[in-house]
Amino acid sequence: FLKPIDKINALMESYPKGMAGFKRFLQLLDTEPDVKDAPNAVPVNGLRGDIEFRNVTFSYEGHADVLSGINLNIRAGETVALVGPSGAGKSTLCSLIPRFYEVDGGDIAIDGIRIRDMQLRSLRAHIGIVQQDVFLFAGTIRENIAYGRLGASEEDIRDAARRAHLLEMIEGLPEGMDTVIGERGLKLSGGQRQRLAIARMFLKNPPILILDEATSALDTETETIIQQALTELAHNRTTLVIAHRLATIRHADRILVVNENGIAESGKHEELLAKDGAYARLHRAQFGQAVTV
Ligand code: ATP
Repeated sequence: FLKPIDKINALMESYPKGMAGFKRFLQLLDTEPDVKDAPNAVPVNGLRGDIEFRNVTFSYEGHADVLSGINLNIRAGETVALVGPSGAGKSTLCSLIPRFYEVDGGDIAIDGIRIRDMQLRSLRAHIGIVQQDVFLFAGTIRENIAYGRLGASEEDIRDAARRAHLLEMIEGLPEGMDTVIGERGLKLSGGQRQRLAIARMFLKNPPILILDEATSALDTETETIIQQALTELAHNRTTLVIAHRLATIRHADRILVVNENGIAESGKHEELLAKDGAYARLHRAQFGQAVTV
């Protein structure tokens, strides 16, 4: 009985909602059997989160290469933002790290160990994914947060909610943590759903984090709170941010511009603006001519 739940758990923490999301979810389940433990796969424990792409090439079956010859080193604890045109391969690059897909060439290693040599389950236990659309199930708020780490104590669940800036709102509800959410219960706002996903991640506490930034606009206040919570979540973890709005990634340790040629530029916000290349052009397109360093 637990096996499919484990499998889903291992796959992702949050699923996109709606039909498009549902299809993506099925695609993931669909592709999953292709990615299996190697016969000699080893369980890994306590990874720090140094990530290395060595000459990685990848294409979706029957399609042209999305990524080719990607070399990339991300230090444990570093926050790296991926920007670039839609369809350039930012999400694809990130989805190779939990091995949702198998590389066609080259290797990805974490702490020097090739991910293809790791037991999938133990690899994925080290990776947290926060997506724009959050999978919530009909149940209490407590159960929905505890989904981040099944069996978590009440104290840990409350602590995760507090760090996600969600506790105050929960405590304001007549039934608090016991409030039922979902179809027949309380409907959470977009911002609350995202904070719930963040609370799950605080509970899971993975050394590697993949943040797929929300494209839909939230009000400024909610946005600020979520940014704060995400910054706290990213602290001391290797974090890859798939960024759609440049404003939120200005302070990343490094920004990678991904385009059809691969990683076109890499550097800090100020460095890339001064370079006046692809990043500066993206920046001008979003913020107009007034480029600030
Ligand atoms: P966005 O900013 O729009 O999220 P992205 O840079 O993250 O884009 P990807 O989603 O990684 O880009 O997509 C890279 C390319 O791979 C695109 O051409 C896309 O159409 C294609 N692609 C993505 N997922 C699949 C899939 N499951 N099967 C086939 N092709 C896919």
